[in-house]
Amino acid sequence: MAVLISIGHDGWYTEEQLAEELRAIAPGTDIRPISAPGNLAEITVLAASALTGDLAARLPNLQLVQKLGAGVDTIVAHPSLAPHVRVARLKPQEPAHEIAEYCLAYVLRGQRNMAAHAAAQARSAWEPLAPRRPAETTVGVLGLGHIGGMTARLMRDMRFRVLGWSRSPKEIEGVDCRHGGAALPQMLAECDYVCSILPSTPATHGLMDAEMLAAMKPGAVLINAGRGDLVDETALLEALDTGTPGHAVLDVVNQEPLPADSPLWAHPQVTITPHVSGWHLGDALRDVAENYRRLEAGENLLHEVDRERGY
Ligand code: NDP
Repeated sequence: MAVLISIGHDGWYTEEQLAEELRAIAPGTDIRPISAPGNLAEITVLAASALTGDLAARLPNLQLVQKLGAGVDTIVAHPSLAPHVRVARLKPQEPAHEIAEYCLAYVLRGQRNMAAHAAAQARSAWEPLAPRRPAETTVGVLGLGHIGGMTARLMRDMRFRVLGWSRSPKEIEGVDCRHGGAALPQMLAECDYVCSILPSTPATHGLMDAEMLAAMKPGAVLINAGRGDLVDETALLEALDTGTPGHAVLDVVNQEPLPADSPLWAHPQVTITPHVSGWHLGDALRDVAENYRRLEAGENLLHEVDRERGY
């Protein structure tokens, strides 16, 4: 049995870095970066951030794909992945908190008129503007799981009025939790900021279409830190031109990296960040080592994903 590390995209940790960190946590475990995979028949666990090409199909004894993060949309339905292969994700605290902090940063940018003050400074203009009160501001959080739940609690602790939305009913103290498709348009209409931390599934794909964007409050800010395919980007550009919503902050987009000729780059009411809202793995590699041990021992895995449901 061996673990193969293949991240599957650029611009993050390297396989060699992660292999070294994992060896320090699980000495004696056979851990191989994709640059030196050895005999592929010995690989039982593939640790990946994204599944690319036919790698999984070339691992005849693969039992588990261990996602090096949270979103498993590029893995669960990948054509190279046999139906019997299990998929597990990580639920680390550090990147979840980073994403909550990202959402808060862009909410505060609006609350404290940061863009307007920067524009005034560029004109050497002294233009006082009243900050908005949190208690008079409603923040909506789409997705109340590991990351969305943390985001909703952070917003609550900052004294915002917080609405949350999920598939099934939830109870979070100080958060007005709603669920199901029918509840979404009404909730969107109440929010000054909408933070999405939804996974990509067939049910969330294109959810923020022209109709849902039109349901938002005029001038509201849409912050998407979940997955890019939530948003119909053509509809978003048209909607922004009408002022509903007023601004979009996109950490994730339909095509990543965002093509240089995308109109999103230059739109004055769009803020793009290159999928960086959650970055550090923190101590999550311990769970990779633990899942390897559990797989060998025939025990239940940590954070196993329902491949049918998609998250
Ligand atoms: P979880 O699985 O813990 O939570 C997902 C939440 O979404 C749940 O509350 C779930 O509802 C809700 N949900 C799923 N489908 C629907 C639906 N159709 N309608 C309403 N609610 C729905 O995931 P995490 O919070 O850990 O992560 C969420 C996503 O964030 C990841 O899948 C990933 O795509 C993204 N992400 C982005 C990162 C970045 O850097 N930008 C980094 C890490 C993750 P219920 O509880 O009822 O099941």
